Amino acid sequence: MSAAGRPRILLMHPILDPGPAILAEAGEVVAYPANGPLDEASIRQAAEGCVGIVSQLMDPIRETVLSTPGLKIISNVAVGFDNIDLDAATAHKVMVTNTPGVLDAATADFAFTLLMATARRIVEADSFTRQGRFRGWAIDMMLGADVFGATLGLIGAGRIGRGVAHRATGFNMRVLYYDPQPLPPDAEQQFAATRVDLGRLLAESDFVSVHVPLTPDTHHLLSTAQFAQMKNTAILINTSRGPVVDEAALVEALNAKKIAGAGLDVYEREPAVHPGLIPLPNVLLAPHIASGTVRTRSEMSAMAARNMATAVRGGRPPNLLNTEVKK
Ligand code: NAD
Repeated sequence: MSAAGRPRILLMHPILDPGPAILAEAGEVVAYPANGPLDEASIRQAAEGCVGIVSQLMDPIRETVLSTPGLKIISNVAVGFDNIDLDAATAHKVMVTNTPGVLDAATADFAFTLLMATARRIVEADSFTRQGRFRGWAIDMMLGADVFGATLGLIGAGRIGRGVAHRATGFNMRVLYYDPQPLPPDAEQQFAATRVDLGRLLAESDFVSVHVPLTPDTHHLLSTAQFAQMKNTAILINTSRGPVVDEAALVEALNAKKIAGAGLDVYEREPAVHPGLIPLPNVLLAPHIASGTVRTRSEMSAMAARNMATAVRGGRPPNLLNTEVKK
């Protein structure tokens, strides 16, 4: 609580309008120092006296932070919440919320953008042209991979995976998916999608696009053995979380031409990028921007602020993850 008796909210990083106004109405907003250290002890220190923290994916929110006396809610401005120890939050009766749904379209658009741009070597082609190396049409210049009619393998067919499947229908793609949760039959029909095991997906797909949350089960889900199962013409797209892919194994697979290319938005040790990826022309590297459209980031900000405001006022936030904390 502030001196004026208003609940204190720790804002780890700036958010977009209308988020700040929603937060300011709910309590006294304390901004974490810009470029402050993002370790648990420093966050805990800043969180003393706060009822809530508006966090982002680079903020480690685990036991040390979650045991702060008086803390009631962590509102993460992301759909993924692997930066938060949900079990520890539940044990400390701290609510955790995320921002599902509002970023599905932007993220699926971006996964498809990476897929097409990697297949057709767009970044390479752009720098080739800018460097003045285009000296005339040639039949064998910058040949890429076909997208229309190709086979797309989706690892994870939740909200975003389905969005990618939807886009693939316009490209007449055969969709294979691997997910413990089957799609409803009408969605399978709509997307011409077939549920398969991971081995078959890897063996048959021209593009493998990853859309699972990062959990202990999905850590390094794709490593040396899985790359060996893929076609040597296949392209990997990852817009989920970096550690789902064993980055060192990916570099090896690319160098050994076990697979043909990769389009990546996320990395194992962000913001570091494996140095082995940097020189590879068949890899497209983006700085974790899959949800980065003006509308989407604004809606994520508003949603996270509304989750916080509801909890601060004693209510049950709409996007509560650990529902057992607040019945
Ligand atoms: P979701 O929960 O709707 O879907 C995830 C799907 O993965 C579910 O269907 C689930 O059953 C499946 N799954 C879980 N474990 C699996 C496993 N071991 N093997 C196969 N499938 C498994 O989540 P979503 O909203 O589609 O988001 C997916 C992830 O994408 C998020 O958790 C987040 O980490 C990431 N994401 C990244 C960005 C970005 O900017 N790059 C943006 C949004 C989301």
